[in-house]
Amino acid sequence: SSALDILTRHAEDKRLHAVDITPPKEWLEWLKPRRDSVLPSALLPLGHSDMFRYLPVHARAETVMCYFGLGDTYSPWFKDPCGSLTHNLLVDTNGNGSSFFFIVGTRDVDRFSSWLHSLGQEIDQDNGTSFTPLSVLKNAPCNIYITEQQVGDLIVMPPRAAYQRFNHRGINSSIAWSRMETVSLPFGIQLELPIYNRIGRAETYRTKLMLLHSTAHYAEELRRLHKAASHTPEQLAVVEDLLELLDEVLINEYAPGALNLPEPKLEEGMHLTCDFCASDIFITYFECTKCRSSSNDPVALCGLCYASGRTCQCVRKMKPAVVRSFQGVLDQRNQIAAVVGEIRGGRQSTMTER
Ligand SMILES: [Zn+2]
Ligand SMILES: [Zn+2]
Repeated sequence: SSALDILTRHAEDKRLHAVDITPPKEWLEWLKPRRDSVLPSALLPLGHSDMFRYLPVHARAETVMCYFGLGDTYSPWFKDPCGSLTHNLLVDTNGNGSSFFFIVGTRDVDRFSSWLHSLGQEIDQDNGTSFTPLSVLKNAPCNIYITEQQVGDLIVMPPRAAYQRFNHRGINSSIAWSRMETVSLPFGIQLELPIYNRIGRAETYRTKLMLLHSTAHYAEELRRLHKAASHTPEQLAVVEDLLELLDEVLINEYAPGALNLPEPKLEEGMHLTCDFCASDIFITYFECTKCRSSSNDPVALCGLCYASGRTCQCVRKMKPAVVRSFQGVLDQRNQIAAVVGEIRGGRQSTMTER
């Protein structure tokens, strides 16, 4: 008899599976990018194409988790946070176990989400509950990719891909991680964060701060390469695209007077999230010092919540505030633009309050 028999025999009325477990040290060690890594660095957490590596250590989220699933259990529909790529490796199983993944691709995900919503199921919540059986999925308005994952198989999914997983036999132990590539940033900022704001799903990743740090990193690399006359047009294009996105973010962060607000006194490693939608506050937010949040701090709302009419209890006492100097971020942005301007040989676009 196997461990599975003990866990499943007699009067069983439910089967449990464990999600979001901190992985064993040895597994985390195995995932660290090094010269003799089994997986290429481009697929590893904090590998060379993971934007998390450009965030200060205290600002990085937990992106590697373990899952233990018993046969006949499932994970409901899920999209990894903020436009990140999904990686799932089946490390071990007892007794011929495997997992089936049902995947909806990046382009179809919004249509699929609306269709599922019409059936009373959601994919955007991070605590979905239902499994959609094949008999229902066959009527889906788009392709569903189904793959069986056996021990040693790594499944990689693009940004915004939605998936549900079914554990088939055995006890399956897997390790999963998310990575933010440069392409994740526009998906996260333009498409995912507005959904989270609407439904109140916590951002958990610090997407806009990551955009700032990644853009600064690539611009600095570009500046060095340009000096040695060895940059490529693709490297320039990456910085230009990121800068365009950063400009869009900064315009949305702007509130009258925000540039002159006093520097906040947040301690190193501290960060602020919106009390309504749990988004990460990048620069500007709206604060009421009269009303208190559940943690007994002044109520803080992100710009998007405030603009959509969400407010504190006393209403109309909210004032703009910043978590970091707006002018400081603007100076960083202008340095990046100067690198691009120098290479392009055109006039440098400087962003100021006017
Ligand atoms: Zn908010
Ligand atoms: Zn108030």
